[in-house]
Amino acid sequence: PNSSLALGIDLGTSGVRLAVLNEHGKLIHTSKTDYPKGLESPEDWKTCCTELIRALPSSLRQNLGAVAIDGTSGTLLACDRSGKPLDTALPYHLSCPEQRPSLISLVSHEEPASSVSSSLARALRLISTHGPSVLLRHQADWISGWLLDNWCWGEEGNNLRLGWNLIDQAWPTSFAETAWRAALPEIVSSGKVLGTVAPEQSQSLGLPKQLLVVAGTTDANAAVLTANAGPDDGITVLGSTLVLKRFTEGPIRGAGITNHRVGGRWLCGGASNAGGSVLRQLFSDTQLKELSRQINPEFNSGLMLRPLPGPGERFPIDDPTLEPQLTPRPVSDSLYLHGLLEGLAHIELQGWQRLKELGAPPPKQVISLGGGARNPQWRRLRERILGIPVKTCTNPPAAGVARLALQAISPQHNLVSTKQEADHQL
Ligand code: ADP
Repeated sequence: PNSSLALGIDLGTSGVRLAVLNEHGKLIHTSKTDYPKGLESPEDWKTCCTELIRALPSSLRQNLGAVAIDGTSGTLLACDRSGKPLDTALPYHLSCPEQRPSLISLVSHEEPASSVSSSLARALRLISTHGPSVLLRHQADWISGWLLDNWCWGEEGNNLRLGWNLIDQAWPTSFAETAWRAALPEIVSSGKVLGTVAPEQSQSLGLPKQLLVVAGTTDANAAVLTANAGPDDGITVLGSTLVLKRFTEGPIRGAGITNHRVGGRWLCGGASNAGGSVLRQLFSDTQLKELSRQINPEFNSGLMLRPLPGPGERFPIDDPTLEPQLTPRPVSDSLYLHGLLEGLAHIELQGWQRLKELGAPPPKQVISLGGGARNPQWRRLRERILGIPVKTCTNPPAAGVARLALQAISPQHNLVSTKQEADHQL
């Protein structure tokens, strides 16, 4: 075995996907399967991983040097010290309003963990059901634990909404006095080598004995890593909401700003309430495609729309009363869509300007991800409005998390690509 290949495992909402990268970072294999029962079933997570890993061509499987895992962030499981699940997992979208009083006593209301839909809320429900001596593990951390036969670790990003503070590198001080302090994982940074695969797993899955298990990241961060962004690149996620991301030297602060740490690098960004969800309210995906074909992106629509789904915005403008501007609606649907896409491009432009004001250098090109990235007319419109090249990346998140594994076996493969590597990839 040459141990030069990197495996990424993405545990998503509906199933699991694998990706294998070669030593140059090129995606050479991807496969996927859906959960037989669903996201709540940890047995399914394991079954899907087992099935996909065993089905890898042996020429790939035997040459793997490292594996890293991402999962839906916030899907939380209670297990015993030997990793055995005590029940089904609580999925990331489940809120636990009955935990509000306990949440208020533990974290301040500005913290991401304070919401009744945070991991902390689900953690408190699991503790009230199973008692304080359980282990609380998120999906990706539990699967890493399974491969290692050691469930003590938790990756930093997956545990932010459980209360982990990235900047202070600590749990809230209020946790120290709780009876369930020991239920929390020991936090490690994303990209850190956790150990080698357990002998039992290596044998049953046909994996090399020396395979390194590397702390992964969240599904959202894994998606961003697929962009292979260089130091001058911006990343725009055109999903239900419009999200701008960029690697920076350190964290930045401001309304609607998030800071993540992935593979040893700061990844900061801003999320607007505007985005694809407004388009979906007005048009089906098929209509979006058909109507977009009729748009000439070299021209302006003449409309001035602000496609917010409702009143209120955090980023790029922090104004809880900001009103959507969805009228006047022209007779032509394609002209209307032209105006909406243009409106979103102007919010994106403002977003990059806002990030610059907050200390993030302006990008020299933008790489687009998400459902809207597949729209060529929108890409061209944005290129004209942003005044910089706009590229598209359609690699799956599994390929993004695999880059963390690759970085562990070939450190010259820095997570922030050089310009040449980035060009070669896209
Ligand atoms: P998320 O994961 O945030 O829900 P996706 O990345 O799956 O979102 O993208 C879905 C969004 O992409 C929808 O809001 C939809 O309106 C938008 N979308 C789908 N097709 C197109 C298209 N051809 N042009 C622009 N937007 C599109």
